[in-house]
Amino acid sequence: MESSPKNSRREFIRKGTRISLLISLGAVAGIAAKHITTEKYVWQIDPFKCTQCGRCATSCVMTPSAVKCLHAYALCGYCDLCGGYLKPDANKRSTAAENQLCPTAAIQRKFIEEPYFEYVINEDLCIGCAKCVKGCTSFGNGSLHLQINHRLCLNCNECSIARVCPSDAISRVKGSEPYKVKGSFTKS
Ligand code: SF4
Ligand code: SF4
Ligand code: SF4
Repeated sequence: MESSPKNSRREFIRKGTRISLLISLGAVAGIAAKHITTEKYVWQIDPFKCTQCGRCATSCVMTPSAVKCLHAYALCGYCDLCGGYLKPDANKRSTAAENQLCPTAAIQRKFIEEPYFEYVINEDLCIGCAKCVKGCTSFGNGSLHLQINHRLCLNCNECSIARVCPSDAISRVKGSEPYKVKGSFTKS
């Protein structure tokens, strides 16, 4: 079946964003590899176990937290009514500050074409609070998820978030595979 120009364009945009995500993760992994050359294991979140309790924002020894939101574009529905971006009681689907779920305005909403919008995380502003993750998991495809950023993480002997995580979602993983990014890793 032939795809419409609209669908082709959307696919093109998706592939482009997926590639840029991979490039940026590749860069992060490269930096992480340098950072952890003497470490065998690092801490990471299993996004399928995380229940978005909010402790990743408050229990990390780093301020702001080394935990950041990642967006798996390949899983995103590019929804206009995005449960990760808008407060449930938002008056309008607009970028007005009072309608945004993120407490630090770390999510940028970009118009793609009717009726699709792309959501981009500004990692410098993200505090890892998981509010958007909860919204996206409850009302969307679950494309927004948390990961410990190894450019920022101190790889503490005992991760203080892992100690309080109610879902046992944080564990040691091999330093050679430091991320559990949704879409590239399957539920265990
Ligand atoms: S502490 Fe655990 S359940 Fe809570 S947000 Fe972090 S990973 Fe998710
Ligand atoms: S809602 Fe929280 S986890 Fe999501 S982007 Fe904003 S600060 Fe980060
Ligand atoms: S290992 Fe330390 S720095 Fe890294 S996420 Fe856990 S508490 Fe934060």
